[in-house]
Amino acid sequence: MPTIFEKIIAGEIPATIVHQDDRVTAFRDISPQAPVHVLIVPNKPIPTVNDVGEEDERMLGHLFIVARDIAKKEGIAENGFRLIINCNKHGGQVVYHLHMHLVGGQALGPMLSGGTHG
Ligand code: AMP
Repeated sequence: MPTIFEKIIAGEIPATIVHQDDRVTAFRDISPQAPVHVLIVPNKPIPTVNDVGEEDERMLGHLFIVARDIAKKEGIAENGFRLIINCNKHGGQVVYHLHMHLVGGQALGPMLSGGTHG
């Protein structure tokens, strides 16, 4: 079954795309957690971080370059932002197509909330 992100990448369902090339697609999160909240997604449907392979190394580096460029375009590079990748149940992953959250546009506070280790 294709994930919702595969359908967005294929243009089958609407999304606000901010970047697309032959390796990655970036679009605005439907439920933004901050003024800027963009998801950067490999076009290849890798389910989780556990599933990345050596052959994905260049594409994953490219993901960071795209994140850098989007942060700059959105005007949040200088003040800063957060990149998040959730993995599986404990990581809070909901969509099983690897994606990086680019979140910023305001001070984001402590890295984790509700933790039991400090
Ligand atoms: P994660 O918990 O890391 O799997 O995050 C999944 C993210 O996908 C959430 O922040 C959702 O708001 C977002 N999301 C789900 N469906 C869509 C959609 N159709 N378009 C844009 N973002 C979506």
